[in-house]
Amino acid sequence: MGKLLIVGSIAFDEIETPFGKTGKILGGAATFIGLAASQFKVDAGVVSVVGEDIPEEYLNLLKERNIDISGVEVVQGGKTFYWKGKYHNDLNSRDTLVTELNTLADFNPIVPEDYKDAEVVMLGNLHPSIQLGVIQQMNERPKLIILDTMNFWMDNTWDELMEVIKLIDVITINDEEARQLTGEHSLVRAATKIQEMGPKYVVIKKGEHGALLFHKEHIFFAPALPLEEVFDPTGAGDTFAGGFAGYLAQVKNISFESLKNAIIQGSNLASFCVERFGTERMLDLKPHEIDQRLGQFKELTQFNIELT
Ligand code: AMP
Repeated sequence: MGKLLIVGSIAFDEIETPFGKTGKILGGAATFIGLAASQFKVDAGVVSVVGEDIPEEYLNLLKERNIDISGVEVVQGGKTFYWKGKYHNDLNSRDTLVTELNTLADFNPIVPEDYKDAEVVMLGNLHPSIQLGVIQQMNERPKLIILDTMNFWMDNTWDELMEVIKLIDVITINDEEARQLTGEHSLVRAATKIQEMGPKYVVIKKGEHGALLFHKEHIFFAPALPLEEVFDPTGAGDTFAGGFAGYLAQVKNISFESLKNAIIQGSNLASFCVERFGTERMLDLKPHEIDQRLGQFKELTQFNIELT
């Protein structure tokens, strides 16, 4: 079994979509990444921080799925990160209404000894200095370092972000973020520029329009499965990243071909995540449902034309 180290937020999320709203529910990038990665044969460990207000059942939900939470620090007297978002009618865009960093504000990540030799490291969307701190604690250079980030860090911590981007292998960002990072409108040009910054592989997520993988002159595209109903997109990007990282930690083979597979696995899992609020769908997902939908994915893009 491969070892996967995941760094990211564990959160209280409060979500409003055109279909309804939630109270405070379990969320956070590391939560979604962990739940997706736990669908693979991997030893997944999470490094994160929460306050003492975190319900024990939330951490148990992760433990029950064999996610190692020994790297999750519980700060006595502290409050857990809280995020509130509201989606627009098309569900493609959202407004962040509240971000309370709480314990995440002074987070000093400590990688457990057992995970300092992880082959794959998934750096969830966090302050780039935290992401850098995790890389520096590894015993040796992991086989693969994947990084997720967002416009907020480009606006506020550019230099630190550039420092960490230099050290990673794969970046996963959405189309707008790729444009912001490079000043290029063309995603092909943007991907080339990003590769010059450090990462050998660039994954650009386009929400309901799928994801693109770039590596040198190679491009691969994976669609998103057209769904009858998207209920709540929260965590779809993290679920994608968790599936991507989990698959690669399982196969322990890093090549353009295996990354293509990883993108399909990530897209497949993300298609479930959006079907219910928060983590609800990921928590009751069954292996046969995953396999069945993978078949649908294959059907979706299989065609046979003679090239003459
Ligand atoms: P996604 O929908 O994949 O972009 O991720 C949504 C998750 O990211 C939610 O569960 C939030 O708790 C978490 N999140 C939102 N903003 C931040 C932030 N600034 N730092 C860390 N996690 C965040």
